[in-house]
Amino acid sequence: VEQINNPSFFSSKDFHVFFKNSPRSLVLSADVPRFTMLAVSDTYLNQVHKERQELIGRGLFEVFPGSEGDPDEKGSVLNALLEAIRTKAIVFQPVFKYEIYNTEKGDYETHYWHNRHEPILDEEGNVAYIINTTTNITDRVRLEQAVEDSQKREQALNDELAASNQELTEINERLGAANDELQTTNKELNISNKALQTAVEQLSAAREAAQLGLFDWDLVNHTYAWDARFKRMFGLSAEDNPDHYQVMVGRLHPDDRERVKKAVLDARNYELTGGRYDIEYRIVGAGDVPVRWARALGKVIFDNNASPVRFIGTLMDITDQVLIRQQLEASQERLRLAIESANLGTWFINAKTREIIPSPRVKEMFGFEADDKMTLAVAIDQIAEDYRSMVVDAINGAIEKGESYDIACPVVGFRDGKLRWVRATGKLYPGVNDETPVFSGTLSDITEQKQNEQRKNDFISMVSHELKTPLTSTISYIQVAKKKISASGDQVTAGMLERAGIQLGKMTKLINGFLNVARLEAGKIHIDKKQFDMAVLIKEVEESVVAESTSHRIIFEPVEETWVNVDKDKIEQVLNNFISNAIKYSPLHTLIQIACATKGGYAHVSVKDEGLGIRPQDQEKLFDRFYRVEGQGTKSIAGFGIGLYICKEIVERHEGMIGVSSEPGKGSTFWFTLPIIQKP
Ligand code: ADP
Repeated sequence: VEQINNPSFFSSKDFHVFFKNSPRSLVLSADVPRFTMLAVSDTYLNQVHKERQELIGRGLFEVFPGSEGDPDEKGSVLNALLEAIRTKAIVFQPVFKYEIYNTEKGDYETHYWHNRHEPILDEEGNVAYIINTTTNITDRVRLEQAVEDSQKREQALNDELAASNQELTEINERLGAANDELQTTNKELNISNKALQTAVEQLSAAREAAQLGLFDWDLVNHTYAWDARFKRMFGLSAEDNPDHYQVMVGRLHPDDRERVKKAVLDARNYELTGGRYDIEYRIVGAGDVPVRWARALGKVIFDNNASPVRFIGTLMDITDQVLIRQQLEASQERLRLAIESANLGTWFINAKTREIIPSPRVKEMFGFEADDKMTLAVAIDQIAEDYRSMVVDAINGAIEKGESYDIACPVVGFRDGKLRWVRATGKLYPGVNDETPVFSGTLSDITEQKQNEQRKNDFISMVSHELKTPLTSTISYIQVAKKKISASGDQVTAGMLERAGIQLGKMTKLINGFLNVARLEAGKIHIDKKQFDMAVLIKEVEESVVAESTSHRIIFEPVEETWVNVDKDKIEQVLNNFISNAIKYSPLHTLIQIACATKGGYAHVSVKDEGLGIRPQDQEKLFDRFYRVEGQGTKSIAGFGIGLYICKEIVERHEGMIGVSSEPGKGSTFWFTLPIIQKP
């Protein structure tokens, strides 16, 4: 140790290498805790800015106070030295921070050091010395720190960049979302704007259309707003602004005043009405009309304590409605009276459920008692069997196809078993607003009428029968007498007898007609069908007609071969009836055209004239029994109104149809059809 401080020591072999390799070394005694400095190299002195004599022989920690570090700290110099003593191995302190007083600068400087502590053993193997090699690594550390700092800063920057990038993305995304939202909101706003506009327009249009007046009554501040239309209904101009309540009450019909006052009070009572106000009243003295009917609809708004705060509503002029309603009620009343006085029954049938609501009179006619339940099915059971299916078909036709319903049939009373003839007329009334359509109408008792008809028929048939025999003999007498007189040369008497014969012929025709009707009614007319060609049948009629009548221009159109299965005499009778009517009901020398064409499997025979024509209301009734058109033109023409009735019966028994088209003053075309058959 002594030699270490001696410069000649450097030539010593053992330490030479040591000092050469570690020029910054210091040799310490291993005397804990003082660690006396025994030798020090020049480089070391330079580094710590000390003179040799300041160090040699002094304790390490006296010279460098605080350099021992915190004993608890693992990397402290003291601990490192102790570890070297304990382990007898080299201990490194890679970085050790210690401030050195720089005498030149006169201040402490922070330095970083790298320490190497190497224990030197004595002969007994105990640590005697420690060689400490200290390297000042301040520059390196600073550099490293700088690098680290810049790396850190770079990292931080990077992180920041990444973060801000992330943020940017997020912001972008949010921006996108916000944009979308904005767009949607915009759209929605547009839509709701439009909707609002439409609603406002609709509201004002509705108000306009409904001619609604408005009122708005502030029940807290006792102010009242009413629009021009409201005022007008009370006979005030838009500028007038009198005390509304006085005016209102004053102009109400005296009979309505108390009712309105009460309704207004009630509306303000939450418990009672919940604020609802709906009342019809009359306004008198508005000036424009003697009495105005108005309907007020309103609502009282309450605060949390159920105290009324505001009363708003509308006023509608319903004068027209009320008038119509009153008229309707009056006409319903008249109808009811008419139905009652005509002793009519009324009935309603639900088109879907077929449930019937009969009036008491209907039940009576069907022989039910007042308390009996009368269903449609049971009612139908009371109808005479022969008529039942016809009635059911007619009901179905009326309900399902809206066909007209006018039916007469015999009914056997449910309880009394009495036979009555009833006539039902009805119509299908389409349901208003999804309601089920109702089939309804009236029922009348026509028993007496039927009996009278029967009596008339019986009488006619009896009289005709009784007349026929004497008439036939009279005709033969007259024929014989005519022959004799002609032979005697008395032409005048012969002429008279001739005319008497013609008149008797007419009478025969008439009586035959009556007999036909009587037979028809009794179902005794016999149809004897055979196959004929219509061309031949019409030719025969043509020959007899053209030979007999010279008063009109009668033209038979050419007819093609058309085969039918008919009672030839009866069909000829129909055609002859048409032609003689055409002659009877059209002026002299006018044109009458007879044609037969094929239409959809039917032979269509028509007789067209240029005569009086028939009004539409008469056309449908012409084929009824005893129906004759009344009027100037027909008054002087003889007839009983049975010809067309018989024609209709005949044609229908041939499964054909019969009809007329006509224009009053221009002429008529009577026609009938017959089903065509294969040529035999
Ligand atoms: P009648 O001729 O005996 O009165 P019809 O049954 O043959 O009885 O005819 C019924 C009614 O139809 C007639 O009264 C007449 O008013 C009307 N009528 C029939 N044919 C014609 C016609 N060709 N032109 C105008 N009216 C007619």
